Amino acid sequence: MAKYKKYNYSQMIMIPVSLQDQLMPGTLEHAIHEVIEKKVDLSIFDEKYKNDETGAPAHDPKLLLKVVLLAFSRSIIGSRKIERACQENITFMALSCGMAPDHSTLAHFISAMKDEIIHIFRDVLLYCEELNLLGGTHFSLDGCKLPSNASKQWSGTFKELRHKQKKLEEKVKKLISDHEREDKQEGGSDRSKKEKQIKRIERRIKRIDKFLNENKPKKGKTKKELQSNVTDNHSAKMPTAHGVIQGYNAQALVDNKHQIIVHAEAMGNGQDADNLSPMVDRAKENMKAIGRDENYFKDKILTADANYHSKKNIEKCEKERIDAYIPDTLHRKRDERFKEQDRFKDGVNKPPKKRWYTPKRETFSWKEFQYVEEVGKYKCPAGKYLKQMSLKHKSRNKYYRYYQARETDCRECSLKSKCLSKTDSKSRSLLIPIGYRNDNERILSISQRMQQKIDSDKGKDIYSKRLGTIEPVFGNIRFIKKLDRFSFRGKSKVNIQWMLYCMVHNIEKIMNYGFTV
Ligand code: SF4
Repeated sequence: MAKYKKYNYSQMIMIPVSLQDQLMPGTLEHAIHEVIEKKVDLSIFDEKYKNDETGAPAHDPKLLLKVVLLAFSRSIIGSRKIERACQENITFMALSCGMAPDHSTLAHFISAMKDEIIHIFRDVLLYCEELNLLGGTHFSLDGCKLPSNASKQWSGTFKELRHKQKKLEEKVKKLISDHEREDKQEGGSDRSKKEKQIKRIERRIKRIDKFLNENKPKKGKTKKELQSNVTDNHSAKMPTAHGVIQGYNAQALVDNKHQIIVHAEAMGNGQDADNLSPMVDRAKENMKAIGRDENYFKDKILTADANYHSKKNIEKCEKERIDAYIPDTLHRKRDERFKEQDRFKDGVNKPPKKRWYTPKRETFSWKEFQYVEEVGKYKCPAGKYLKQMSLKHKSRNKYYRYYQARETDCRECSLKSKCLSKTDSKSRSLLIPIGYRNDNERILSISQRMQQKIDSDKGKDIYSKRLGTIEPVFGNIRFIKKLDRFSFRGKSKVNIQWMLYCMVHNIEKIMNYGFTV
């Protein structure tokens, strides 16, 4: 016969808990506790509280900040979930000293630190600098587009939103007339359900109406109207690899020694190219605030991917005397190391998928044609001579010598599939570069100068370090900390959330590489 241990719920158990012992050195909670307690000045919050003479004492901002940072590091985002963690999880209980702040206190604390967040971020950055975690030689810039608490369906130009409003009004009219008709008949459908539906649509109409009256159309760089959003007008509709999202472009500028983020900002703008200049300017302000030179980025290396390649950005870097490496979109096509990258486009060792367009055929380059000095002509791989058509053919910034094969030679040629770029081409033409325009002087555009810089061995070497500098930062925040969407609405609140995540990342680096407190 079985014999079990007796259990009794009607008894008391006393468990002594030392809060200090829960914050074990070497853990992130300990690092957050030490950094916020000893290195971050939160007296900036003092003037927000007017309860010195009357009113109950408020929760200490240090305590709230520690709890929020730990929650974000464990991918606990909602304020109700954080409140629950403070009541049930011993680490959160220790960090909050058993005070268990409620969800509205936590939500208000996060969303109201619009002016304070940058000072807190700089205090953590200053500590990174004191611990010598900043290399100060090479920085990388990148961004990731994340959805926010805004509805894609409520996006549109003012004309589109008015059209939407009109359609909703028509729908209400139809529902009311249906309602009246059914009223006259006996045994009509449920009245209250229809009334609720009408009220819901009327609320939407009012919301659109209020938005259209209080806002102005957003204009893009080309003066074309951009889509506005009724739920969060600071957010933007952005295409990503996983479809179109309504959200923010979270930017980070990272030092390559230990991947410390020197500036982070959420932008309501899907175009990375527009974000380089503000990111560099604000990173300079951060460095100045922690006591470094105003021209901190002078002669420092900055790498950014092809999305940042624009004349304006390269000019900005030249003006700031930053040694920038920002490739154009075709740099991999020119790089021998990526010659075979298309092999992996549709999966390793798999036949390429059918495309909706006809890819351009790979044809013999001009280097595969042999120049025969005796006759002064080029000979093609099939052994036929090409006739010289022009001595100085001008195209863009270069001069070429122009040759053409005879139609009769190419028509019967067995190599024409490898030689002619289009199936309906009649003969092969050949452009031999002979120099640059304006008396062979190299008048290179700013973009071409950047191309040369990137294509050089030094450029390739420096640019190859970008991936290992910036991508682990986004990997950590997006996949380890699981920030896959912003839970706030409005640029300032989303920015606070993004900076808090970046701060957790920096504190983690302090814990791993420089903790001495
Ligand atoms: S297609 Fe014309 S140019 Fe090309 S290899 Fe054949 S004959 Fe020569």
